[in-house]
Amino acid sequence: MLQKTHSIAGFISAEIVLIAQDINIFSLDTAGALLLGCLAGTLADVDKPGSTMAKVLFPLSALLHLLKIKHRTLTHSFIFLCLIVVLTMPLPPLYFWVFLTAYASHPLIDLLNERGVELFWPFSFKIRLLPKFIAIDTGSVSETVFRWLLLAVSLFIPLLHLFPQILQTHL
Ligand SMILES: [Zn+2]
Repeated sequence: MLQKTHSIAGFISAEIVLIAQDINIFSLDTAGALLLGCLAGTLADVDKPGSTMAKVLFPLSALLHLLKIKHRTLTHSFIFLCLIVVLTMPLPPLYFWVFLTAYASHPLIDLLNERGVELFWPFSFKIRLLPKFIAIDTGSVSETVFRWLLLAVSLFIPLLHLFPQILQTHL
């Protein structure tokens, strides 16, 4: 998936955590959490040569390249998610959960990609949720449709939270 698709998935993750923790929507914490969600959602692609994250986090992407770590392996795996938990533990709870869920949203939506993800790296079998003929290829029309769906969800979540009674009467 493209970086913008992962950013929206990270944004949605942050929205869900903000609602779960009952954070005031008009606060600095909300702005910080949404920004963190957008960034953390794209982080796993530091393993993809040429990606924005690989450029931004050059020392890390160079190290992964040197170690011959392939795309959608280590940084998209459960084992790395455990490492993220340990590394982000010192963060305040709101930012910890936003970072963790936004990061996890990345391999989760990559499971819809036709190439699959090595979730259980270092075991090299790939997991894919959709059959190949409907799987979402990176940069394809189906990814654009999927991104618009995510965008709709990202707008719907705050509406549902702010105006639950209005939606209940209209649905
Ligand atoms: Zn990825």
